[in-house]
This record gives sequence, structure tokens and C-alpha cells, in this order.
Amino acid sequence: RKGIAVITGASSGLGLATAKALADTKKWHVIMACRNFLKAEKAAKSVGMSKEDYTVMHLDLSSLESVKQFVDNFRRTEQPLDVLVCNAAVYQPTAKEPSFTAEGFELSVGTNHLGHFLLSRLLLDDLKKSDYPSKRMIIVGSITGNTNTLAGNVPPKANLGDLRGLAAGINGQNSSMIDGGEFDGAKAYKDSKVCNMLTMQELHRRYHEETGVTFSSLYPGCIATTGLFREHIPLFRLLFPPFQKYITKGYVSEEEAGKRLAQVVSDPSLGKSGVYWSWNNSSASFENQLSKEASDAEKAKKLWEVSEKLVGLA
Ligand code: NDP
Repeated sequence: RKGIAVITGASSGLGLATAKALADTKKWHVIMACRNFLKAEKAAKSVGMSKEDYTVMHLDLSSLESVKQFVDNFRRTEQPLDVLVCNAAVYQPTAKEPSFTAEGFELSVGTNHLGHFLLSRLLLDDLKKSDYPSKRMIIVGSITGNTNTLAGNVPPKANLGDLRGLAAGINGQNSSMIDGGEFDGAKAYKDSKVCNMLTMQELHRRYHEETGVTFSSLYPGCIATTGLFREHIPLFRLLFPPFQKYITKGYVSEEEAGKRLAQVVSDPSLGKSGVYWSWNNSSASFENQLSKEASDAEKAKKLWEVSEKLVGLA
């Protein structure tokens, strides 16, 4: 049978390119888990995906209720789940004020981390039940949360501190930042990516042996053309792609990035669990090192426990 992969945020950028790359193999059926049904349908058509290779299902990660409904709806289809790709993200680098999810969490961390945290925890049961030979859960990471890299050292740097703001609910009453500090949209995004990478490792430690599921994260390269930068100032949007192409040489096309993530989904050579994958200049994959904070096991455990409380699992 075909493998069944759920990809969040498959209506544009990396998620769409990955859906397309998997669909083209004819070995995968992709569930495009998206907040905008019409946009996702149009996107799938625009890249030439055929009807039998995908299904669009509604998921708004900025609402925990929507996450639960998505899981219910998916289960009602009685399909197995073989791979989950947590890809969707919001980035608000120029926001002066925080905005909030349906449950009142700061939007970037609430969507990118907490929404995916609940989704991955609920769908782990479905992954366990699948009889697919190589079951995987992937949470897309980023270089920007990794302060052991050049890009990760551009201020404001990611820093979760002692998680006091998160523990207090990042609802703007005490703080809307995980470390309890002043709101900064760019930092909130980077913090959320550190949470994504910590969550992947904690899932690996807790569940890999017991379930056989492969847990992985990746940095696909700088996909400077995606909608992620839609809220940035126009000059930035103009100069960022050539800067990445010719100066940092970290630039990667959406198509190439989609092929990379598709490898993490299905390539037998990328089946090791607990790995943060990256690619070198010749597009060869390698196991990359995470920064001190993004690989801090104590912090991962604490983040897990605090997040469980916030999403109502504890
Ligand atoms: P895009 O903005 O193109 O894609 C983001 C996707 O997330 C869109 O499909 C968007 O939906 C979806 N999304 C946003 N909010 C929600 C929500 N509340 N519920 C459901 N879906 C939502 O960005 P990219 O493709 O660049 O980003 C994809 C991933 O890649 C992210 O995890 C990002 O952190 C990561 N990444 C990107 C890099 C880059 O250089 N671009 C580098 C490293 C990592 P909609 O279409 O409706 O807006």
C-alpha cells in the first residue's frame, strides 16, 4: 500500500514542496493539514499534484480545539498514519505587540510549538498502530534557533531562560515570552524553533525504543523565497534571497528543500532516530550538531512538563 503522511502547513513553501515531492513518487498519499482549505486545494493544483495523491484536511494550529478536531476527523477516515511532519510556522519579525492563539498563548510559540506539541502527542498513538515498516515523526527545526551557528547568532538570539514566562502561560499578563522577557517577534519565532528541536529529542528519549518510531528534525537550508518572510519589511524581502544566494551561500530553492524533507520522510538512509539533519553544499545529508541550549536534556524535560500542562495533557 501507499504510505500515508500528514504534513502541517502544506499550503505553501516547504510543506507544499514536500507534499509535491512525495506525491510525485506515487508511493505516498499526503494529508495536507492546513488552516485555509481553499488555499491548500489551489496550491496542490498549482504544482500539478493529482487528486488521488492528496487530501486536504482542516487544521488550525493556533487553536488546541482545532488540533483535537483534526485528530478526530483523521481517525474517522480510518486510515493508518505512517509519517507525521510538523512543518507549519508563523514568523512575525516586525510585530510591535504580541498576538495570541485561541487559548491566549503568544502566537508564534502557541502555534509553532504548543499546537504541534499537542498534535504530535495525540497522533503518536496512531503512529504506534500503523504497520508501516518505517514510521517517522518529523518536526522542522531551524538554524536560527542554534546559537552555535553564524545565522543563530544574529540578534535577537533564541533563549528560553528558565521557562518562567511559558510556565506562567505566555499570555501577556506577566510576559508573552518563554524566558519572561519583553515581547520580540523575531525572538519568539527562534524560541519556538528551539522548542521544536527539544521536543523532537524528548520524544526520541521517551518513545523511540518502545515504539520503533523514528523521531527527527532538520534544517533544510535557507529557503529565502517562502511566505515565511511575508511580514518582513519590503527592503528585506528584496535583498534577502540574493544575500543568501551569493553571500552566505545557504540559499536553497523550495523544490530542493522539499526534496530534502521528503528524504527525511522516506529515505532508508535517513531512518536513524534522534537526529537533526542538515545538507552540505553538494546537497548531501549529514547528522548536524545542535547548540548547547537546543540539545539540553534537562531543558527538554522541563519544556515537556510545562507544555503538557498548558495543552491540558497533564
Ligand atoms: P511558509 O510561510 O511558506 O509556510 C508556512 C505554512 O504554515 C503555511 O502553509 C501556513 O499556512 C502554515 N501555517 C501558519 N500558521 C498556521 C496555523 N495556525 N495553522 C495551520 N497552518 C499554519 O513558510 P516556510 O515554508 O518557509 O516554513 C515551513 C517550515 O520551515 C517552518 O517550520 C519554518 O520554521 C521552517 N524553516 C524555514 C526556513 C526558510 O528559510 N524559509 C528555514 C528553516 C526552517 P497559510 O498558507 O494558510 O499561511
